[in-house]
Amino acid sequence: MEISRRDFLKVGGAAAGSLLLPVGAAAAASAATFPLRKRVGEAASVCPYCSVGCGVIVATDAQGHIINTEGDPDNIHNRGALDPKSVSITEFGNDPKRLKTVLYRAPNSDKWEVKSWDWATAEIAKRVKATRDATFKEKEGDVTVNRTEAIAWVGGAANNNEDCYLAAKFARALGIVYLEHQARI
Ligand code: SF4
Repeated sequence: MEISRRDFLKVGGAAAGSLLLPVGAAAAASAATFPLRKRVGEAASVCPYCSVGCGVIVATDAQGHIINTEGDPDNIHNRGALDPKSVSITEFGNDPKRLKTVLYRAPNSDKWEVKSWDWATAEIAKRVKATRDATFKEKEGDVTVNRTEAIAWVGGAANNNEDCYLAAKFARALGIVYLEHQARI
């Protein structure tokens, strides 16, 4: 596309005019384009981006869209501080492609099925029990070991101290000996 000298001056003049808009007019134009959305909900969450696991307060509007994130002052990991990466939680959280349900692909199937969280929790419990029952060893020679070597447990660095304490107690009670944590690997 060719732009004549006259077109160029017209565009330049319009741009200069818009720069000289009074502040009130600019604010009104901005409000029309980006209307303020009322916060209707706030939830405490965890930044998903790195192993620090900073606490985030996520605000949503009436449609359930994330409209603001800020550091959670009550979270012991970050005490209200957040780094710039966490700002993209808004974009990531509102992305229509974001998975919000459990997807399950059965053995030998070529399809993903949508399942509920309750189904997934019960299924995991069922499989852990079946594996433990099938592999539990009480003795190794004369020595009592009470363990299964068929299950491993890995904790995430975003788990807090109390989460890890409970997870370790639970895993030991099942007889799991391959117990690790992301922060140690
Ligand atoms: S805010 Fe930054 S440091 Fe904290 S978890 Fe997210 S990416 Fe990691």
